[in-house]
Amino acid sequence: MNILIVGAGGREHALAWKISQSPLLDKLFIAPGNGGTALLGTNVPLKDNDVEGIVAFARDNQIGLVVAGPELPLVLGLNEALKAVNIPCFGPCTFDAQLEGSKAFAKNMMRETGVPTADFQVFDSHERALEYVRGHSLPMVIKADGLAAGKGVVIAQSMDEAEEALRDMMVTQVFGEAGQTVVVEEALIGEEASFMAFCDGTTIVPMPSLQDHKRIGDDDTGLNTGGMGAYSPAPILPQERYQAMADLAIRPITRHLASIGQPFKGVLYAGLMITEQGTMVLEYNVRFGDPECQPLMARLKSDLVEIMLACVNGTLAPELVEFHEETSCCVVMAALGYPQSYPKGMAINGIEAAEQIESVKVFQAGTQLQDGIPVSSGGRVLGVTALGTNLRQARERAYQAVDKIHFENSYYRKDIANKGLRRS
Ligand code: ATP
Repeated sequence: MNILIVGAGGREHALAWKISQSPLLDKLFIAPGNGGTALLGTNVPLKDNDVEGIVAFARDNQIGLVVAGPELPLVLGLNEALKAVNIPCFGPCTFDAQLEGSKAFAKNMMRETGVPTADFQVFDSHERALEYVRGHSLPMVIKADGLAAGKGVVIAQSMDEAEEALRDMMVTQVFGEAGQTVVVEEALIGEEASFMAFCDGTTIVPMPSLQDHKRIGDDDTGLNTGGMGAYSPAPILPQERYQAMADLAIRPITRHLASIGQPFKGVLYAGLMITEQGTMVLEYNVRFGDPECQPLMARLKSDLVEIMLACVNGTLAPELVEFHEETSCCVVMAALGYPQSYPKGMAINGIEAAEQIESVKVFQAGTQLQDGIPVSSGGRVLGVTALGTNLRQARERAYQAVDKIHFENSYYRKDIANKGLRRS
């Protein structure tokens, strides 16, 4: 079967790497892909928001499965557009994609289905939002309803910050339409963890837990990023709790969606906050997290194509999904300056040397091949991923591998997995 992966990050390289190992694969295409995916298949110059172009390419190239990496094409209707030409899509329909595309939609569904989440109110009037915020105690979390590339969340510690966030989102409209509606919610205190499950509409199969590192600086300081590293499993969420976690965070939603005729097929990702009062869901994503996908694919033993087809066809079963017992750790190497402005075009050396280290795989994110040499083209450049018998070993191998890789102006966090090590 020919398979088309949509997306261009480390997540898509990890998916391409795993999919390319499947005996079910004939030809692999990645749109638009990166320097890493170019080594495994054919990169196609189509953007992830070009739903029409993706569908036309899939039709013209006898694609048997389209895998949506990021959320944007799903929010824009990729699933239905492919369905119209009888091509299966791994990733949910537009209705279900609202779980990620609209925070108000997700929060209302959590409330309706009894998923524990921070107390919240939704506003589409700036005056009402302001009145509410002024009447509540700080800190308070203000979120733009729509997609804002991870920048639409403000944890306001002062009334000035809260008012500024509301003004930016609702009046100045710095996120365009995405901020016309806002969710104002209670700030939770706890430790975050990521929990994902494969879903076929009715059956769900949980994947191992992970912990991501959102901030740019060590000790979780500085600006929010797409994620600077991740490891799996997260000691804060051990395997014996996966079923309970699925019952708390995933099943109420998939059951509800099935009951209203919108069965969820794909990966449902719950961003969790583990608080002293119990576990709360912060957000849903309707696809694999990135970088989380990288340490996860490193651990996946089963055939990913078989799992994806089972999700699409409604034949998912727990025995199809097996993970290696080993722990994995991914350290993101970025360009200095990310997530703000950063240089591009740096030649990257040492990937091969890094991969000589036992159980190390370097996934490429913001890279392109120039005359066969990977050159940086984005903020997050590489996801250096290693397996180990425990978190300490996985982390050690990942950092040894990072030491072998060189490009000008590289930056990475030095404390990936420290939080997990303190618990394990
Ligand atoms: P991303 O795209 O990075 O996943 P997002 O823009 O979809 O993020 P959320 O995941 O809802 O937004 O929030 C981003 C981050 O803000 C969370 O990972 C968490 O660190 C913090 N956060 C969100 N809601 C709360 C809350 N109620 N209390 C405390 N922190 C919160």
